[in-house]
Amino acid sequence: GLADDFRVMVERLRESDELRTEFIGNVSHELRTPLTSIREASTMLREDYFKADRDSSEKLLDIISTESDRMINSVNNILEITRLDIAQAVYEFEDADIGRIAEAAIQNTAPIAARRNISVISAIDASAKADREKLAVVFVNLIGNALKYSGEATTVRLSAERIGDRLRVCVADEGAGIAQEELGLIFERYRLGSNRSFEYKGSGLGLAICRKIIEKHGGRIWAESGQGQGSRFYFTLPLC
Ligand code: ADP
Repeated sequence: GLADDFRVMVERLRESDELRTEFIGNVSHELRTPLTSIREASTMLREDYFKADRDSSEKLLDIISTESDRMINSVNNILEITRLDIAQAVYEFEDADIGRIAEAAIQNTAPIAARRNISVISAIDASAKADREKLAVVFVNLIGNALKYSGEATTVRLSAERIGDRLRVCVADEGAGIAQEELGLIFERYRLGSNRSFEYKGSGLGLAICRKIIEKHGGRIWAESGQGQGSRFYFTLPLC
C-alpha cells in the first residue's frame, strides 16, 4: 500500500544519502594521498637543495610528476561522473575513426608510460558509431589503468576486431591481473568503501564511468584476467 511505498522511498533516499557521504569521503582520500606525497617530496627537495644530489632530486621530481598526473586524472573522473549524472549528458554519435581516438589517448598518457618505461602499441584501424569525446574518456581510463597496474618495462596492446555488426576493442596489459571474484565488482560505482574485500588504490570511478559511456553507445564492457596473467579489457561499439 501507500505506507509501504513511502517506507521504501524513505529507505532509498537514506541509502543514497549514505552513498553520497561515503563517496565524498573516498574522493577526499583519493585526492589527499597524492597531495601528501607531493608535499613530502617537495619538502625533501628543499631540504636537500644545497647538497645537490642529482639522482635523488630526480627521483623526488618523478614522484611529484607522477602524483600530479594521478590527481589530474582523479579530478577529471570526478568532473566526468558529475557531468554524466547531470540530467542527460548529450551524446553525438558519428562515424568515428576509432584508431585516431586511441592514438590521441595514447599521446595523452605518454608521460606516464615514458616514466614507467611501458610501451603502448595500437593496431586499431577501424571506424564505429561513437561520440568521440566520450570514447576518448574510455580510452584514457583503460590505458591509464593498464599503466597504473602494470610493472615497469611491459607492453600495453590495443586492438580491434569486427564481430558481426559490432566492433570489439581490446586493451591488454601484462600487469598483475585481476582475481576472478573481483572481475564482477570493478565496474561498480562507489565500489571503494562499500565493499572492502580487496585492496583499493583509487576511487573506483574510472571503470564505472567507462561502463556508463559504453552502455550509452549500446555496447558492452567487460574484463578477462587471471592472477598473474595480465588483464584484457573489452568493449563493443556498433559499426557504422
Ligand atoms: P581506480 O583505479 O581509481 O580504483 P577504476 O574504476 O579505474 O578505479 O578501477 C577499479 C579497480 O579495478 C581498480 O582499483 C583495480 O583494482 C582494478 N583494475 C582496473 N584496471 C586494472 C588493470 N588494468 N589491471 C589490474 N587491475 C585493474
